[in-house]
Amino acid sequence: MKSVAIIGAGITGLTAAFYLKRQGVPVTVYEAGGRVGGVIQSIRKDGFLAEFGPNTILETSPKIAQLVRAAGLEARKLATDPKAEARYVVRYGRPIEMPGSVPGFFTTKLFTAKAKLAVLREPFIKPRRDGVEESIAQFVVRRFNQEFLDHAIDALVAGIYAGDPHKLSLPHAFPKLKALEDNYGSMIKGQLFGARDRKKSGEVAKDRAAKFSFDEGLQVLPDTLAAQLGDSLKLNTPVTKLTQTADGWRVTFSEGRVPRVPNSKTEDGDSWNSSLQENEAEHSAVIYCGTAHRLAELEIVGAPSTVSARTESANSPRRCSAFQAFSEISYPPVASVVLGFRREDVTHPCAGFGMLIPKVEGFKILGTIFSSALFPNRAPAGHLNLTSYIGGARYPELASLPTDKLVELVLADLRVLLGVRGQPTFVHTAFWPKAIPQYNVGYGKYRDLLNDLEARNPNLFFAGHYRDGVSLGDSIVSGVNIAERVVKLFSA
Ligand SMILES: Cc1cc2nc3c(=O)[nH]c(=O)nc-3n(C[C@H](O)[C@H](O)[C@H](O)COP(=O)(O)OP(=O)(O)OC[C@H]3O[C@@H](n4cnc5c(N)ncnc54)[C@H](O)[C@@H]3O)c2cc1C
Repeated sequence: MKSVAIIGAGITGLTAAFYLKRQGVPVTVYEAGGRVGGVIQSIRKDGFLAEFGPNTILETSPKIAQLVRAAGLEARKLATDPKAEARYVVRYGRPIEMPGSVPGFFTTKLFTAKAKLAVLREPFIKPRRDGVEESIAQFVVRRFNQEFLDHAIDALVAGIYAGDPHKLSLPHAFPKLKALEDNYGSMIKGQLFGARDRKKSGEVAKDRAAKFSFDEGLQVLPDTLAAQLGDSLKLNTPVTKLTQTADGWRVTFSEGRVPRVPNSKTEDGDSWNSSLQENEAEHSAVIYCGTAHRLAELEIVGAPSTVSARTESANSPRRCSAFQAFSEISYPPVASVVLGFRREDVTHPCAGFGMLIPKVEGFKILGTIFSSALFPNRAPAGHLNLTSYIGGARYPELASLPTDKLVELVLADLRVLLGVRGQPTFVHTAFWPKAIPQYNVGYGKYRDLLNDLEARNPNLFFAGHYRDGVSLGDSIVSGVNIAERVVKLFSA
């Protein structure tokens, strides 16, 4: 049997490769960059551990713990410190702890009496059943009120998608909220009565899910999965073309791409050097686990009538632009700014998970994770590690600023919000020109197109953050599920 080609060595591709290999299916993983992990990247420097992208994995599905166990990483897994549960949202120019209980909700200063009344009223608001696709902003205003959108959901959306709540689709970006209204008629009722159903399925609600990382950061997971691949992992090898053959797919790739020296700038977003040596290999199947914007650049050549529903017309094999639509998916830029401070230079205890900042508060950062409170070893003794994010759909122009300007902006906000004095003792920034795909209203069109491409092109599969959800947990589950589909196909 020819190997299955997996395009992309982010967490989705590596998870799929790991499971396929364990099931005895040979794989070849093609990665355009010079390292594995995609947007996961951790470095240790001067006693600090800096995460370039994601900081924690939410354990929303049993498949996530199974992967960690199967990879032999249980001993290196670190759960977040139970004392670091507090989450803050900024209001009136200062971080206020989010209530964690019903009595806490009614006494919090985070919301006015009007917003609290809106929550009491929510179970009596009729569910919308006309099939119109709403944005998360429209949904929240309809079921709660404007204050809830401006002072809570806007901040939450910045924390998950770095996105705009007026554009993000309720059914595509927040399917579980939509399901609560569809199944229980109300969010509050769904929260109360849905626990039993979630228990049955083994799924855990995002707000209750355990969070974890590893002793040397999240990079431990992709590195461990990649170590099992040996020669089947091909770095610096962007795939440029897929050609359907009688019994599978021919993959065309460039070889010899010079790896960039790892620095504070991330790789993706650069154009790939097309003058490199082209080569090809035959595979029984292809799983695309890259990004949507790179998918749009991929050329697909196949027999007429099997390539794509949208572009079918000619009678001879031809180049096909079936993937071009994916370039429309917005991926706003984000910069992460990791700063270290002496403990005595920060007034706020920074003892929780972190703080989120709604746009109406007028700060430049989207939020800050109190990294050194979450896990041991993120900062030297007597120091704090604070990871802030800047840019996103809210202020895209800020993400690409040079390091000194980014640090200046973040420091200005942290001085007001956390009482930071003096200068940071550690600085690390990372720039993601295309960070997180926005599941905006109308996203169903892209999911339909993926289903359609799979249906019309035997042995071609799509998985990852642009299809199955944007969290790390979603990507892991996506990788496991696609591997299971491929195994089933070959056993049949
Ligand atoms: C700044 C930031 C913070 C985040 N924070 C969190 C968090 O705290 N918790 C959380 O759960 N999630 C977080 N996320 C989201 C999460 O990290 C991602 O959704 C997830 O890692 C995506 O994994 P992936 O494998 O699907 O894609 P990616 O990580 O994007 O990997 C795709 C890989 O495919 C390669 N590739 C693409 N095209 C080709 C091609 N043609 N040929 C060869 N290779 C190709 C790319 O080079 C890349 O390495 C964050 C994301 C960002 C950007």
